[in-house]
Amino acid sequence: MRAFPDPNTFTLLPWRPQQNAVARMFCDIQRPGGESFGGDSRAVLKRNLEHLARMGYTYYVGTELEYFYLKDSGGTKKRKEAKPLDHGGYFDQLSSQPASDLRRDTVLNLAAMDVPVKYSHHEAAPSQHEIDLQYTDALAMADSVMTARLVVKELAQVQGVYATFMPKPIAGVNGSGMHIHQSLFQGENNAFFDEDDEHYLSEVGRKFIAGLLRHAPEITVVTNQWVNSYKRLVPGYEAPAYVSWSHVNRADLVRVPSYKPGYESSMRVEYRAPDPACNPYLAFSVMLAAGMKGIQEDYPAPLPIAENAASMSEAQRQALGIKTLPTSLGHAISLAEDSELLREALGDQIFPSFIQNKRREWGEYCSQVTNYEIEHYLQRL
Ligand code: GLN
Ligand code: MG
Ligand code: MG
Ligand code: MG
Repeated sequence: MRAFPDPNTFTLLPWRPQQNAVARMFCDIQRPGGESFGGDSRAVLKRNLEHLARMGYTYYVGTELEYFYLKDSGGTKKRKEAKPLDHGGYFDQLSSQPASDLRRDTVLNLAAMDVPVKYSHHEAAPSQHEIDLQYTDALAMADSVMTARLVVKELAQVQGVYATFMPKPIAGVNGSGMHIHQSLFQGENNAFFDEDDEHYLSEVGRKFIAGLLRHAPEITVVTNQWVNSYKRLVPGYEAPAYVSWSHVNRADLVRVPSYKPGYESSMRVEYRAPDPACNPYLAFSVMLAAGMKGIQEDYPAPLPIAENAASMSEAQRQALGIKTLPTSLGHAISLAEDSELLREALGDQIFPSFIQNKRREWGEYCSQVTNYEIEHYLQRL
């Protein structure tokens, strides 16, 4: 194998010394003869985007990265407690607090690396923060997600704390998601925009949503790939648990933010399941595949729901055809392992090894005796 640098991604690391500076490049993994290695997830996304380009589309993606800043609480390596750095809440302005300064510094460093940040703010849970990246084409965005995760972590470490993208590090408060805003362009035109539609959402956009919803259960193993991911996807914490869509900001799986007059290019579909610990190259590949299936196979566009799916009874959800997202990694694997859509999107090399890795991880987890069990059963049973 060889790592073949992609010169377009050459960037100096601004937080390292500028004298004898340090730079990084993303590399394509090739076999010695120069052909692309089938296990390279960046190459998988490139292949999917090239295929899309032949159909006349470009896939644009914006991301909202949520994460926690935490202090080392001592303890053993196996029993670390997550200790917050601040006690802020949603959108709190906490000036000269270590976490706010860290976030600010991170945003400035990302800007210096040409990773454009659109917003950043405190999130709902203590010490939880969010950085939103301005939309770009999907490959640049997947690289930017990798860069942002690195910068967030490196700068935290310099300050003697750490940052985590673990989906649900603290029970009882919100977990961390990575909402993905998506649109398809044909040249300069946003194919999701239609000025004659009540909500300015085109048929292409509706079919893309239909594809996302129909295939959501089977792609979740990729967008939410860890045992812990499924501790986040439960009702009550602004994360989706059901396969529904709406225009309002709730816990639906898909949201279509309302159109701002004059901003046709920003008409987009937000997919809210993914967490920031996913592989963005693979996650974008499978979301794109699901949405495109809806367009190519002309899936009927489902209606948005007016009520919160989480507050309906199971019978009401069934009557409306609202499915449930997988509730554990094991469940997600069983919904994914026969998926033709995943095999096509991930390729013959990555798909089977991904499933095999996940099965091993799930097996390991299932054989643990957890603190929950010790606390609830040991002295009682
Ligand atoms: N943290 C929530 C999630 O898990 C999202 C909160 C929000 O951005 N409204 O997806
Ligand atoms: Mg947000
Ligand atoms: Mg958020
Ligand atoms: Mg969002």
